[in-house]
Amino acid sequence: MLAIILFFLGHWFLSLFFHSFFLHRFASHKMYHTSKNWERVFYISTWLAQGSSFLVPRAYGVMHRMHHTYSDTEKDPHSPHFFKDVYQMMKSTIVIFRGFLTGKNLPDPQFTEAYLPIWDKLDKFGHHVITRIFFGALYTIFYIYFAPNYWWFLLLPIHFLMGPIQGAIVNWCGHKYGYSNYDNGDHSKNSTPWGIFLMGELFQNNHHFAKDDANFAKKWFEFDLTFFLMRGMHAVKIIRLIPAPLESQK
Ligand SMILES: [Zn+2]
Ligand SMILES: [Zn+2]
Repeated sequence: MLAIILFFLGHWFLSLFFHSFFLHRFASHKMYHTSKNWERVFYISTWLAQGSSFLVPRAYGVMHRMHHTYSDTEKDPHSPHFFKDVYQMMKSTIVIFRGFLTGKNLPDPQFTEAYLPIWDKLDKFGHHVITRIFFGALYTIFYIYFAPNYWWFLLLPIHFLMGPIQGAIVNWCGHKYGYSNYDNGDHSKNSTPWGIFLMGELFQNNHHFAKDDANFAKKWFEFDLTFFLMRGMHAVKIIRLIPAPLESQK
């Protein structure tokens, strides 16, 4: 049982860390500088951590930039205020995401102007259905070996869809439940302390107020775990944090 719990928590937090650190704070917002080699390490780590639910960085970046520009309006690709439940929101988000990858949806040029990390070969390989099934099979084999009984298999769908599930929790809860520090003209909210399980991503209200600030925590009682780890990486010079604009220090 311990092996399954550790595997679940390990997959949850590793997947979430690279989601937040690489897909969100680098691919979408470029909150830090890093060398090309480290960028590749983060890229591969994101793919390995998300595995069967790998989110291709360029599609993620474009869609997330749209989310900020159109937050909680009809053009927002995943506002909870335009869907009747979280499942419908996820379904629509996946259709838009796939559209960017197949070329069916062409992004507005304003969303591709800033740097987007692209690694064509890994994107194609990681996005391929066979690769996704392979990761899913690995998770299942682990459960076959270590799960004490079949009830634990109910956790498997979370492993299969880890990336989109974490994104859906942030987008749904982060724009629906919690408190606001700022009036951003949208429905973005903050959650603490249980937002710790989303590693800082549930401070959506703070983040929409200052989208280029790598630190999502603004009040003394808020803690952004991803930023805490990023400060460590900055100290050992793996990344170089870009100072936040002055107006976001309020
Ligand atoms: Zn948001
Ligand atoms: Zn953002």
